[in-house]
Amino acid sequence: MNEPLLLHEETLKCPVCGNETYKVQLYLYEIPAEGKILIMVGECSSCGYRHRDVFPAEYKSPVRIELKVETEEDLETFVFRSSSADVELPELGIEVMAGALYQGVITTVRGLLETFLTGLGSNCGQKCDEIKEAMEGKKKFTLIIKDPSGLSYVLNRKVAVTPL
Ligand SMILES: [Zn+2]
Repeated sequence: MNEPLLLHEETLKCPVCGNETYKVQLYLYEIPAEGKILIMVGECSSCGYRHRDVFPAEYKSPVRIELKVETEEDLETFVFRSSSADVELPELGIEVMAGALYQGVITTVRGLLETFLTGLGSNCGQKCDEIKEAMEGKKKFTLIIKDPSGLSYVLNRKVAVTPL
C-alpha cells in the first residue's frame, strides 16, 4: 500500500476557538483500482477540534475549477491554491494572476477574500465594500481557479471542474 503524500501543511485560524493554532494538512493518497483521493486533516492544538475530510483528486492536467459561493459553509471551504494558479472572482472584479505567489497556500474562501482586501489597501471604496459584503455572506459570487499544473483544489462537493 502506498504512503499518503503530504502535499501541503499550514497553520490557520481555528474555526471553533479562533486561535491561530489550527494545523491543516493536505495529503494525496492513491488507492489501487480506485484512483487518487485527497485527505484533509485539521487539528487545533488549543481546543482539540479535529476535522477530517476526503475528496476525489482526479485532476492531473490543466484545470478550471469553479465554485458558486452561496452559503456560510461555502465561505469556509478550504482552497489549496498552487503557485501556478490564477484566481478570478468576476462579480467582485478581482483577477489575480499566478506569480504573485511563490508557493502554494491553503486557505478558506473567506481567507482568500481577506488576502485580497489586505492587498487592495484601506482606500479602495466600493470594491472593498463588496468584498466585505461577500465575506459576511451577504453577496453571492463565483470563485474560479485556473491552474495549468492541475495541482489546485477547492474542497467542496459543488465544484465544477473542467479541462482548461
Ligand atoms: Zn481551536
